[in-house]
Amino acid sequence: GLSKTYRRVVGREISLTAALADVSFSVAPQEFVSVIGPSGCGKSTIMKILAGLLDPTSGSVKVSGRPVEGPGIDRGCVFQSPGLMPWKTVVDNVVLALEFAGVPKRERRRRAKEYVGLVGLDGFERHHPGELSGGMQQRVGIARALAIEPVVLLMDEPFGALDALSRTRMQDELLRIWEQTKKTVLFITHSIEEAVVLSDRVLVMGNGVIAADVPIDLPRPRS
Ligand code: ADP
Ligand code: ADP
Repeated sequence: GLSKTYRRVVGREISLTAALADVSFSVAPQEFVSVIGPSGCGKSTIMKILAGLLDPTSGSVKVSGRPVEGPGIDRGCVFQSPGLMPWKTVVDNVVLALEFAGVPKRERRRRAKEYVGLVGLDGFERHHPGELSGGMQQRVGIARALAIEPVVLLMDEPFGALDALSRTRMQDELLRIWEQTKKTVLFITHSIEEAVVLSDRVLVMGNGVIAADVPIDLPRPRS
């Protein structure tokens, strides 16, 4: 039942934009669901509300049956820009997230290394983000989100800033990671191609509503 109306003061007027109008959906455990739709249809608004970065005007979000408000370690988030700390190494970027998540100190490094390995970056632990390609930086972003061992992985256009080749490579990589972790994923993209290749189900949005909810019955490429 999510609705969101943005209010902005423009001069003496208040401008209202209805970005979401009573949107409801649920994602089953271990399901990979994509949300697609044209620019401005409300995808990022959904993502920000699910991530706890934005309050809905009305409606609520539940994770594992519990209402959530604000960000929490039950949701791992990956945005278009991984926003890594450039002065910290790959592994220390993940360690930092684990520190914020309240993971005990003695466990952080071991866990960070485990997830850096999971995303295929073994051997790059001590590199700094600036030494890595865009795709590799985004893998660190995925490792950081998964390392907190969230209930659901929320991804908003995670490969949107990559060139076409890196993008397909990262799609394969994400499928491989998904096969290994069977993590519940909500994936936002404007690319129907990307949605179809990756998902079990695609929610098609337009104008702040879900216009279609489509199961995808393609055999996944096995790694
Ligand atoms: P998408 O991610 O699908 O491009 P958004 O969720 O970003 O869509 O935006 C949905 C609608 O809400 C658009 O009309 C957009 O202009 C508007 N919008 C988004 N953020 C704001 C904001 N902070 N203030 C006012 N309007 C906004
Ligand atoms: P991606 O987009 O998946 O990161 P790239 O095309 O950027 O892939 O890189 C291709 C391969 O080159 C990577 O998988 C990685 O093994 C290697 N590579 C990229 N950057 C570096 C680097 N700075 N040092 C060593 N190897 C690298």
